[in-house]
Amino acid sequence: MICPKCGKEVPADAVFCPYCGEKVTRLEKREEIAIERLHPAISAAGWLSISYGVAGLLLTHLAISALSLLETLVQRISETFYYPMTIPPELTSLAIFMAVISAVYAILIVGGGMLLSASRVGAYISIAASLVATCFGLIIFAKLPGLFTAAFLSMEAIPTILLVVLIYRGFSYLR
Ligand SMILES: [Zn+2]
Repeated sequence: MICPKCGKEVPADAVFCPYCGEKVTRLEKREEIAIERLHPAISAAGWLSISYGVAGLLLTHLAISALSLLETLVQRISETFYYPMTIPPELTSLAIFMAVISAVYAILIVGGGMLLSASRVGAYISIAASLVATCFGLIIFAKLPGLFTAAFLSMEAIPTILLVVLIYRGFSYLR
């Protein structure tokens, strides 16, 4: 054990530091509590929230890039061949939608980080952001029926259910 005041190594069973007289058992107790608090379910929920957020950010970024590439292609074709072509307005609104949902994924990463430091606020942030992401996923699914059914259900609903179950199991260990 290291004394928090003078930084010298003191015996593990010491109550006071033999060098400067600082009370040292306090620190040890605080460390014990910190270790005890990070329940495996909470640690798993934190990492799940972070990976869910990162995967979502990557996918929305890919989708936005693909849509803007498509827009450039359509523009080039109409200019080169003097053939008027336009992007369907649904695709433009889908790109805006993707940009909005990417903010929700960023919030999921923040919530996951807070969960890993045993924060109860992190649990609320993660659950709220994952529920919003699931609703967004269902809206996209409703707009594009049959196309991404399995992908959206596994991408949105399954991690949300897992996250809720994990947080529920370890909730009492949160600060
Ligand atoms: Zn000391």
